[in-house]
Amino acid sequence: MFDYCIVGSGLFGSIFAYEASKRDKKCLVIEKRNHIGGNCYTKSQEGINIHNFGAHIFRTDSQSIWDYMQQFCTFNHFINSPLANYKGEIYNLPFNMNTFSKLWGISTPKEAQEIIESQKNSALESLKGEPQNLEEQAISLVGVDVYEKFIKGYTQKQWGRDCKDLPKSIIRRIPVRFTYDNNYFNDPYQGIPKGGYTPIFEKLLKNCEVWLNTDFLKHREELQAKAKKILFTGAIDSYFDYQLGTLEYRSLHFEHETLGIPNYQGVAVVNYTDEETPYTRIIEHKHFEFGTQEKTIISKEYPQTWDKDKEPYYPINDEKNQALYEKYKNLAKNEKSLIFGGRLGEYRYYDMQDVIKSALELVKKELAQ
Ligand code: FAD
Ligand code: UDP
Repeated sequence: MFDYCIVGSGLFGSIFAYEASKRDKKCLVIEKRNHIGGNCYTKSQEGINIHNFGAHIFRTDSQSIWDYMQQFCTFNHFINSPLANYKGEIYNLPFNMNTFSKLWGISTPKEAQEIIESQKNSALESLKGEPQNLEEQAISLVGVDVYEKFIKGYTQKQWGRDCKDLPKSIIRRIPVRFTYDNNYFNDPYQGIPKGGYTPIFEKLLKNCEVWLNTDFLKHREELQAKAKKILFTGAIDSYFDYQLGTLEYRSLHFEHETLGIPNYQGVAVVNYTDEETPYTRIIEHKHFEFGTQEKTIISKEYPQTWDKDKEPYYPINDEKNQALYEKYKNLAKNEKSLIFGGRLGEYRYYDMQDVIKSALELVKKELAQ
């Protein structure tokens, strides 16, 4: 008999499994994929660590989370400074003085602020009070030019919806700066684990039993009988067999290519911000770890409509889906020996640091001795 059956070997499940086994709890980890690590999984090819499910850049504003992670890896000094490619023109991201200078031929913050202010005022004349959707939010932050070139097309591709029909919270996470600073994140701690993410998961799961290629939902009764408690980090609606309706996600498709050249784009991430290019980003993996290999590997990231046969990557946290999630959360309260956690279990657009925080909070609540 196990103390916990943990469904999903992603970051949430693995952190919980590590902390529980440290406290002598017996854990069985069930994973439907053929590898551990969830979407953080990396694999080595041509001596390069491939971020198999999209660029994963670790960052946090919490010193305790940064310190916590040091037991499992050493971070390098990578700083994410992606580029935007708009119809062949290259601009710096996030939106900062380098972007504004190239866009408008200006050089001072005052000039940039005046342009944005006047574009915002004429575009949003009718707008009173707070912006209501992503388009209004974007225009109030950066004006019409930036919105049209870097946000509109990218966001519509990424989410498959018009910017007017998307929650403004999606765009809030991107910094807007009036300094010449290309660091995509504001967090004080940032890096890529040397050697990739998978070794972190090997350490996290070293004292647990792990079953790969096993879908919990297909062996539910047998697996429930094996443990006192279930921690489910898959999609909460899938656990309940979609009985209240289906939560919506956005899916992705990745195309990986090996090229016989040492350097394809000179930077780890390039966003294609026009509407016509079918992918949103190209990642060149070697640049995450300053690689000098003879070959290079790139991945194109294509957004996709989600259905039950595809991976659910991004929860769509609009009002309708949020209300449905609350109903599932209430349903979950009736189940005594069942806990939900993680990006899919909590239906939240969580980054790694949020997942670690949330998993450690659960540890405190669940495993306090
Ligand atoms: P997951 O990693 O999704 O793990 C859930 C696991 O459960 C999966 O392995 C799945 O196969 C398994 N599972 C589901 N259902 C079942 C079932 N029925 N039976 C058995 N197993 C099941 N975060 C950052 O901090 N920085 C970044 O740069 C960053 N970039 C990202 C880029 C992309 C494209 C995406 C999609 C996410 C990114 N993230 C990033 C977020 C990061 O991936 C997540 O925060 C983290 O992986 C979530 O961990 P999790 O354990 O909650 O979920
Ligand atoms: N975004 C954009 N243009 C860009 C980058 C991001 O419009 O060049 C918008 C888009 O809506 C995206 C959101 O900002 O979904 C958040 O971007 P982030 O890079 O944080 O997305 P993630 O890495 O989580 O996919």
